[in-house]
Amino acid sequence: NQQILLDNRPEGEATEANFRLVTTDTPPLQDGQVLVRHHYLSLDPYMRGRMNDSKSYAAAQPLGEVMIGGTVGEVVESRHPDYQPGDQVVGMGGWQEWSVVDARQPGLLRKVDTTHVPLSYYLGAVGMPGVTAWYGLVRIIDPKPGQTVTVSAATGAVGSAFVALAKARGCRVVGIAGGPEKCRYAVEELGFDACIDHRQHTDLKSMSAALKAACPQGIDGHFENVGGHILDAVLLRANTFARVALCGMIAGYDGQPLPLQNPALLLVNRMRIEGFIVSEHMDAWPPALKELGGLVAQGKLRPRESIAQGLAAAPAAFLGMLKGQNFGKQLVRLV
Ligand code: NDP
Repeated sequence: NQQILLDNRPEGEATEANFRLVTTDTPPLQDGQVLVRHHYLSLDPYMRGRMNDSKSYAAAQPLGEVMIGGTVGEVVESRHPDYQPGDQVVGMGGWQEWSVVDARQPGLLRKVDTTHVPLSYYLGAVGMPGVTAWYGLVRIIDPKPGQTVTVSAATGAVGSAFVALAKARGCRVVGIAGGPEKCRYAVEELGFDACIDHRQHTDLKSMSAALKAACPQGIDGHFENVGGHILDAVLLRANTFARVALCGMIAGYDGQPLPLQNPALLLVNRMRIEGFIVSEHMDAWPPALKELGGLVAQGKLRPRESIAQGLAAAPAAFLGMLKGQNFGKQLVRLV
């Protein structure tokens, strides 16, 4: 069983030298346990925060242990009556090829149906990132049909689910993404009404002008994944009583300083801005997964994925994602 451990903590930008690849044997199963062969590992921005030892909403990843991570795979051996070999499951198996899971503990494993939804989508569109998009849109932004909503990191795992959910509610949806290729994909394949390239609009004035052109009626709701000048520009273009779901600030995850936003604009526009962590809202998961699974089955949500091959490729793929090198949900294929 190949595993990737966190070997040491980054100082500033994370590097491949922070990780270590090892090979171990999987232990024999005890009663209540199942052996899962991972087909895909999910790489997610939150993992960068866990590599640090600073105060956060989640505990730091311990050194010398398998990196935390969502996985989908197949049960190969089971000593739990609810699981049979061949069952497809989603769990938190971590950066390794196999995992032994205590299936008696609630919430560690969930069986999934791949009739209409590809297995890998349970880590993206019909998984944690999809639920994240749903929570911010439905519970925080709560848009009315015809309203304009915007999202940054628009073509990523969260952003691509967001646009499908917002279009289903009759919104005008404008994305912000890095580079012309991602912007073209956003409009032509994901269904965005417009997409702004943040690499072309690198300062507040230029981003704000681009938003004004793409959102002639102003912005009623915004889903923030990036932070920095993108959020400032959105605040400038927001309508009164606009809502902002503050989901992520990836521009600052890898040690870069993030400028403070301008809170005076919140007052002027009587805005509400709300941060959230999707794992603290378990009541949202069932309705969100139901809607997301339905959209996939109907062909209305078919986002691209970036798939790295083999566990050894995980660190480079992860660091690349933090720099925007992924095109859609970043995964590692392990079989
Ligand atoms: P993505 O698939 O969107 O990948 C990350 C993307 O972030 C990159 O592709 C890149 O897109 C963009 N990005 C990175 N650095 C910058 C930068 N400096 N400026 C602008 N864009 C940048 O990841 P996810 O969809 O998985 O996650 C999106 C966000 O959602 C993250 O901030 C994450 O932390 C957050 N999140 C929060 C959760 C919560 O509970 N609050 C749960 C899940 C995710 P591009 O090339 O377009 O710039």
